[in-house]
Amino acid sequence: MRVCVLASGSRGNATYVEGGGVRLLIDAGLSCRALEKRLAEAGLAPDGLDAILVTHEHADHVAGLDRFARKHAVTVYANEGTAAVVERQCRLARREPPDFAVFESRVPFALGGLTVTPVRVSHDTAEPVAYTLAEQTGHTLGYFTDLGFVSDEAAAALAACEALVLESNHDPRMLRASGRPYPLIARIAGQSGHLSNDQACEALATLRPPRLRRLVLAHLSQECNDPAVARAQMARTLRAIGRDDLAQTLAVAAQDTPTPPFDL
Ligand SMILES: [Zn+2]
Ligand SMILES: [Zn+2]
Repeated sequence: MRVCVLASGSRGNATYVEGGGVRLLIDAGLSCRALEKRLAEAGLAPDGLDAILVTHEHADHVAGLDRFARKHAVTVYANEGTAAVVERQCRLARREPPDFAVFESRVPFALGGLTVTPVRVSHDTAEPVAYTLAEQTGHTLGYFTDLGFVSDEAAAALAACEALVLESNHDPRMLRASGRPYPLIARIAGQSGHLSNDQACEALATLRPPRLRRLVLAHLSQECNDPAVARAQMARTLRAIGRDDLAQTLAVAAQDTPTPPFDL
């Protein structure tokens, strides 16, 4: 399996995955043109993609979804809750909604040789999910962003992954000192908001995913986080649980440039 986080953060999210004979995107939160450009920067062709998996309907995950899917004839996968809201959003903006292949949350489905499992997460949208993608060989990628906390369901899915794209949204101290209005701070830090650096570290320290070989921190806030701070805190956590190997290859996904692709 090959993975490349094309963009990550509150201004747009998209990740490219190739495996089990299929090529897909998780989320399409950049404009169609920006997404094409980002794929080209990563040396990837925008045509011939088999699927776009949607996590939830926030603009930073679906901004280019309808245009990109239509232009490049890609099937869009979402659960009923998310599909319904995206359709409504498109109609309000007088744009043609994409055709959805609708799945049920928690029910694994096949996409070529990949088994996709939509994992329910807590976030302030209709029916948000994270994903695990498993190849028949057993290689498993987890994509967990936009979750307020790590539920038991999410923890069980996380613990089985070999590679993880994991939200490390904000430093709680920087968030509190950000000068943002209190309701916004409460939303971000709350149970339906975003995972903090502390929460991401705590998840790793508690779960100690035994098969994990690659970790990418994702969806970092530009104002309330610092990639160096998030990286250092996670590296310390990984060393403390005896995973120097993970600390050494730890990556932090960026808003404006794709991460170097890695293979599982
Ligand atoms: Zn969101
Ligand atoms: Zn988001």
